[in-house]
Amino acid sequence: MPKKRAVFLDRDGTLIVERGYLSDPAGVELERLAAPSLARLQKAGWLLVLVTNQSGIARGYFSEQQAHRVNEAVATLLAAQGIMIDGVYICPHGPGDGCECRKPAPGLLLNASRDLNIDLVHSFMIGDKRSDLEAACGAGAKGMLVTTGYGETDRDWAAVSGYPVVETLADAADLILGLGRLR
Ligand SMILES: [Mg+2]
Ligand SMILES: [Zn+2]
Repeated sequence: MPKKRAVFLDRDGTLIVERGYLSDPAGVELERLAAPSLARLQKAGWLLVLVTNQSGIARGYFSEQQAHRVNEAVATLLAAQGIMIDGVYICPHGPGDGCECRKPAPGLLLNASRDLNIDLVHSFMIGDKRSDLEAACGAGAKGMLVTTGYGETDRDWAAVSGYPVVETLADAADLILGLGRLR
C-alpha cells in the first residue's frame, strides 16, 4: 500500500486560538482561515493529523477526559464545514516526565505515521512554536511556523533556521499545495 502524505497540525495557537491551558470546549475558536485551508488540503488528498502537547493534564489543571472533550469540540467545528480529521495524537505528560511524545520529541508524529501509513519525508508539520518545528525535524518531516498563537516569539529563530514562516493557515496551505513561494 503506498504511503500517504500528511499535514500535521499543532492545536493551540495554530488550529484554534491560543487560550492558555484550555480545558473548556466552549473556549474552542478556530483560527482565521483554518477551515477553508484544511478543506483545500483534504480535497487535495492530504491526511490531517492533530498533534498536541497537553501538559495541563500532568500539571493537574484538567483531566485527560477534558482534553478529549476539547479535541472533540475542534473536530465537531471542522466537521460542520465538511472536514474530517484523520487522527488526533496527544501528549499528556509534563516537561520533566522524560516521555518520547512531548514535542519537541517526534513521538506523536512517529506514532501517527505507523498507525496511518504516513510518508513522513513528504509530510508537513505546522505549528506556532520552535518545539513544533523541532518535532517535525526529528520525525524527518518538513516544519512550517505560523505566526498566530506564540508564533511571533520563535519567528526569527525559524527564519534563521530555514523554516518557512507564514501568517495564516491559508498561506501554509498555499505553500503545501505549491501555490505559494518559499521565502
Ligand atoms: Mg501551539
Ligand atoms: Zn508525552
